[in-house]
Amino acid sequence: MDDETFRAWAHRAADWSVDYLAGVGERPVRAQVAPGEIFRQLPAAPPAEGEPMDRIFSDLDRVVMPGMTHWQHPRFFAYFPANASPPSLVAEFVTAALAAQCMLWQTSPAATELETRVMDWLRQMIGLPDGFSGVIQDSASGATLAALLTARERALGFSGNQKGLAGGPVLRVYASAQVHSSVDKAVRIAGYGDANLVRIPVSGPLHGMDADALDAAIRADREAGLVPAAIVACLGGTSIGACDPIEAVAAVARRHGVFLHVDAAWAGSAMICPEFRDLMRGAEAADSLVFNPHKWLFTHFDCSAQFVRDPKALTDTLGIRPPFLRTLGQDGFVDYNEWSIPLGRRFRALKLWFVIRSYGVEALQGMIRDHVAWARELAGIIAADPDFELTTAPILSLFTFRYAPAGAGTGAGTDALDALNARLLERINDDGRTYLTQTRHDGRFVIRFQVGQTATTREDVMIAWAAVREIAAGLRAG
Ligand code: PLP
Repeated sequence: MDDETFRAWAHRAADWSVDYLAGVGERPVRAQVAPGEIFRQLPAAPPAEGEPMDRIFSDLDRVVMPGMTHWQHPRFFAYFPANASPPSLVAEFVTAALAAQCMLWQTSPAATELETRVMDWLRQMIGLPDGFSGVIQDSASGATLAALLTARERALGFSGNQKGLAGGPVLRVYASAQVHSSVDKAVRIAGYGDANLVRIPVSGPLHGMDADALDAAIRADREAGLVPAAIVACLGGTSIGACDPIEAVAAVARRHGVFLHVDAAWAGSAMICPEFRDLMRGAEAADSLVFNPHKWLFTHFDCSAQFVRDPKALTDTLGIRPPFLRTLGQDGFVDYNEWSIPLGRRFRALKLWFVIRSYGVEALQGMIRDHVAWARELAGIIAADPDFELTTAPILSLFTFRYAPAGAGTGAGTDALDALNARLLERINDDGRTYLTQTRHDGRFVIRFQVGQTATTREDVMIAWAAVREIAAGLRAG
């Protein structure tokens, strides 16, 4: 492709992007295709000769777009958000143009040094004290794995990497059942074994871990000759937003010398608002904390921010320095690949820099405050509706509810109401005006509602609710 053709297509892609985002609210939120429908339209063999860009671009609209679920839709209230923004998109475009592989300081000093600076901005923004060093990971899963590997090595005196785990002590990890499945996965990959993930019961309105039960579990393990290695505390669990009492959990961690990792993948972004920081009280005593600006801080996926108290423990765990990666004749810099599982690194700091500078902290706080306020308002409306039940109160901008129409009563039985709600959810998502997902809480099928998209307004929240009520009424009538 010559420069002028590239310029024309780059402009066309920019126009396409602006038009797409301006009109995304008119599309059904969740893709409305059947499994295999897109695949069948794609030729089985690659083209032997290049095709005109016009044809490729028109196939984007014809073949690909019907199979897209629109995460930037203002009425996307499913899962957790992945709320991108125009400044982040522009930065991603530039990042793609640079196409730099930023594995070492030397392979792009600006990428490393911008990352160090922007991560320190983020640290200040969420109110973490001095003394934490930040790194951008590809995902919260990757950060949690890095943390549990570090905890493993710390518990083994940094000998596990050299000797392997065979014949060593049994290492234990503690978490509530509210943590994300990435913790289960990290426990597996890091070699602890599923059986050594000890589940601590939760209680209270925040569904947080019982710190006394945690303390008792660690003592019992010690007495049995097992080695407590790590605690994973949850700040904003995926299912219902559960928050562990981090201060009390951190006190237990300190008492027993156990590594504490805090998974704040979703809720961490809200910590830029001082009024929500009660939820993270005690996090300053953690060894590691992760949150995803790619969820709720208007920054494109992927961008996961991990803060560690002792970066040397992390680099002693993950750093490997073969001769072909040495930077000759220079000293005193950070090579972030030694902080992460993959070697290769995208220039992820750029989009964060664009976002923070372009909005400023106050505007970012304002958007998050709106999301929380609208979620709370809608939860209040649902709690007052005789046909619905608010099954978990909002924690920040996430709550759950279910349809329990007056006539159905509790006598309809859990299974019948579960089935009714599953049917309702299917119809809501087939309808396309909004997109919601489910979880199980207290043994019941419940519908999750989180507010966090960049383009969402209060009106979108209310339109979604009106759609839910209308579809529920139709379900009952039909
Ligand atoms: N932790 C929590 C609380 C999450 O909600 C999620 C994903 O939704 C993850 C971890 C995993 O995030 P990632 O996709 O960045 O690995």
